[in-house]
Amino acid sequence: MDSIDYFYFRSLDEIRKPFYDWERQVINVGCSSQDIGIDDEQVNLTIKGKENIAKLIHEYIHFLQNFATNWGGPIFVDLAVSLLKIGASSNESEEILKLPLNKENINNDLLISGLELRESVIERINRSSRSFTHDKSRDAISVSGPTDGEFVITNGLTSIDVGLKLIREHMAYLGTQLYLNHNDDEIHSRNLVTFKRNEHMLARNPEYWILFEYFYASKCFENVGRGVFFLTQYSLAGLAPNYSIIRFIKWIHDIDLLAQRIRPLIDYVQEWTNLHSEKSENKKANDKAIAHCESIIKLSKKYESENHLFEFTRIVTEYTLANILKSEGGMNLFCIEDNFSDLTYWKKKIDEFGTGIVLYTDGVFAHGLSAENPDLLESFKHFLAGNLIVKKLLTNQISTCPFLYDIPICQAEYRDSQNCVKNPFLMLDEKSVDACLFVNGVLMLGLSKRLELYNSPS
Ligand SMILES: [Zn+2]
Ligand SMILES: [Zn+2]
Repeated sequence: MDSIDYFYFRSLDEIRKPFYDWERQVINVGCSSQDIGIDDEQVNLTIKGKENIAKLIHEYIHFLQNFATNWGGPIFVDLAVSLLKIGASSNESEEILKLPLNKENINNDLLISGLELRESVIERINRSSRSFTHDKSRDAISVSGPTDGEFVITNGLTSIDVGLKLIREHMAYLGTQLYLNHNDDEIHSRNLVTFKRNEHMLARNPEYWILFEYFYASKCFENVGRGVFFLTQYSLAGLAPNYSIIRFIKWIHDIDLLAQRIRPLIDYVQEWTNLHSEKSENKKANDKAIAHCESIIKLSKKYESENHLFEFTRIVTEYTLANILKSEGGMNLFCIEDNFSDLTYWKKKIDEFGTGIVLYTDGVFAHGLSAENPDLLESFKHFLAGNLIVKKLLTNQISTCPFLYDIPICQAEYRDSQNCVKNPFLMLDEKSVDACLFVNGVLMLGLSKRLELYNSPS
């Protein structure tokens, strides 16, 4: 099993090449589709194949967090809406935009509002995600706070806010550990090997292990890995997942655990989610998430004939809403009795929810649903293009088409041309039937005549 984690974490360290980042909405598994054969009936997995599946599972859990929970659904739908606003702003303003794009230098209200919505999306995704390293000696793991409104969990060597990064990574990491059929002791020893800093034990990347180790160290629970997995899943069915985790920690703190026999952590998690107060929190979050998606669908239908942005926003939002309804906002995304170590189980999950875009070395696929909903892949591609283009404009990184090497899905005849590498925005001048996704994205966002670089070429 060593090689799996080695492979996996070596890649995590390559921060510049993440497997999945929320802006791209792409799962990059870095192997060929045959290596995994997720759509094949019978697959005899090699060790390498199992490694690849483990990576896919980790990233796929992130994808579901974004598109099938009360927390994630409204946020990612808003990300599409921010693109809608940016695109629609071109209808009412021909203001030439200076790069880097900065809302301080813009007069158009709709464009400013689109950029502000994007900022708020980023803020919501990253909420309370600060982590710190310390030189203190190692202490027992403890939770303290709130300081500056946030709770902090620390072992003396490292600490992190009880926030979204911690929640999302614990769920994805532990989901992978459950697939690999690791028990608590095995997860703990893996953690000691993977997350040490120099000679220190457990001193880095606390987002993957500190909550698990907090419950594990108390020696009061069985099946901590599974328990923490479901605790984080339940928290993402709320609108403020970090406060759900804190409520649970406070609740369990009031129980005299030492007087009890050792029980599975999941029993406590279930008891807690069944509290009247938690049920009503969850109901409120679910109603809000559904209402938000419904309002966006209504809006996009109204203007659908005007711009492809509205069509793809509707398709992505309908997909998100269907997932939220099916999983009760994430509460039943994974169920307690599920057998995580069974590969067929994951294949069924992928069939049921679909994957969005998965990038293999031999092509791009959208697993599951694609037969039922052929437009979904197209919509995710446009989502991806719009986000990357806006990011390039905001950070002034205008060179190299991302669809050339980074996410190699360019279909254009002029692929590999000078402009693809030096200034993809100038590819708008290259006439081709199959334009690059990047070019389509710029046109869709209504930016083709509004950028400074066309109007004053240097
Ligand atoms: Zn992750
Ligand atoms: Zn291209």
